Amino acid sequence: MTPRELAERICRVLGEAGHQAYLVGGCVRDLVLGREPTDYDVSTDATPDRVQQLFPQSIAVGAQFGVILVVDKSAGEAPAQVEVATFRSDVGYSDGRHPDHVIYTQRPEEDVQRRDFTINGLLMDPRTGQVLDLVGGRADLRAGLVRAIGEPGLRFREDKLRMVRAVRFAARFGYAIEPATFSAIRGQAREIHQVSAERLRDELTKLLTEGAARRGFELLHDAGLLAAVLPEVSRMKGVEQPPQFHPEGDVWIHTRLMLERLPSGCSATLAWGALLHDVGKPPTFSPANAASDRIRFDHHVEMGTRMAEEICRRLRFSNDDTEQIAALVANHLRFKDVFQMRPSTLKRFVRLPQFDEHLELHRLDCLASHGLLDAYEFMRRFLAETPPEQVRPERLVTGEDLVSMGYPRGPLFKEILQAVEDAQLDGRLNSREEALAFIRQCYSTQTN
Ligand code: ATP
Ligand code: MG
Repeated sequence: MTPRELAERICRVLGEAGHQAYLVGGCVRDLVLGREPTDYDVSTDATPDRVQQLFPQSIAVGAQFGVILVVDKSAGEAPAQVEVATFRSDVGYSDGRHPDHVIYTQRPEEDVQRRDFTINGLLMDPRTGQVLDLVGGRADLRAGLVRAIGEPGLRFREDKLRMVRAVRFAARFGYAIEPATFSAIRGQAREIHQVSAERLRDELTKLLTEGAARRGFELLHDAGLLAAVLPEVSRMKGVEQPPQFHPEGDVWIHTRLMLERLPSGCSATLAWGALLHDVGKPPTFSPANAASDRIRFDHHVEMGTRMAEEICRRLRFSNDDTEQIAALVANHLRFKDVFQMRPSTLKRFVRLPQFDEHLELHRLDCLASHGLLDAYEFMRRFLAETPPEQVRPERLVTGEDLVSMGYPRGPLFKEILQAVEDAQLDGRLNSREEALAFIRQCYSTQTN
């Protein structure tokens, strides 16, 4: 069963049991726009207990907030799931992120008032296809406007994450943010940190990977949110670059041109790598002057790598994601040297985890500046022409071999094994015998 069929079945079963039940929120918005919804939500006057009775295969995900996840596991199909929430009003929001408690209601009019934007406040009866619009959402969909339901300042005080959500929906659909909604965001942008780092990170990741990252980050900037959430990125604006390498302009322009090329559905690490690859430039900027013929950013890669790690830690990225994002920053300039690299260096380079992301970041970096793809094409050819067994050949010798040859264990081991592997990757050693002879010739068994 598809999620849509499941949502329709849930509404039918609830209806037959005498309840009101509607599709609600983003899925209705998407259906009205003729887009395929990513997930379906149902809202009903049935209490959570009642929903669980009617759908024994369900999980109370937010029982205290009245949300039940109904799961369908038909044989041989991917399980479908739909969130079913009881009509309710949210009360409190004293922390700027969650309601203190909720009150169930029988009236959909009250339920939609707690939702964030008019375009997300539509209900649909799936049995008739009729849209129930209690918030003016259809007019705003026609006009292309993201407008808070109710008084915008109050709605953002309740949950600060809504500010970034407004930007995300505006970017994704190419909409404007309605002026009163926008000025409320500008007024509260600095309070965004009342929401958890995880929620903020996930929202920013969606902004980067839904195919409208450039517009999303421009809106974040204009709304004053970028300076609050990623001050390191907002400092890129106005940081000039040498025109011979960057005819497009300053670091912020360059970064935005890269964001513009991130496709919908791209990986989160690639997207964050693109956003942060030059984050070390603003603090390392030095102008052209008597000592230097051009603008320089000495050690910006090392600085940027440290900054990216720090940003990832602040946003509570997993260790794996942090490592990959930092690696993308750390390695992005190495492509300019690929023509001079020895085979062993090239092979070690392409052995970086998820090298495809490094390569793609480099391609975007070129297209967002001088447009020359020679290093990119060179690496593509190298990958095509170099079989995996040459990139990662079996070791010719092991630590055990070194022990039996009489070398003492210690740091020397690593050095020898690395030298043997380099020679092997360069094609200078092709057998175990050659490797053993090479070791005897280059390394004495005496330590000093
Ligand atoms: P997407 O297409 O990205 O999933 P969505 O509109 O479906 O967008 P969800 O996060 O799936 O967004 O939430 C579903 C619905 O729940 C929203 O359409 C909105 O009505 C409501 N909602 C979600 N988050 C909030 C929030 N922070 N404040 C108020 N209402 C919210
Ligand atoms: Mg959704």
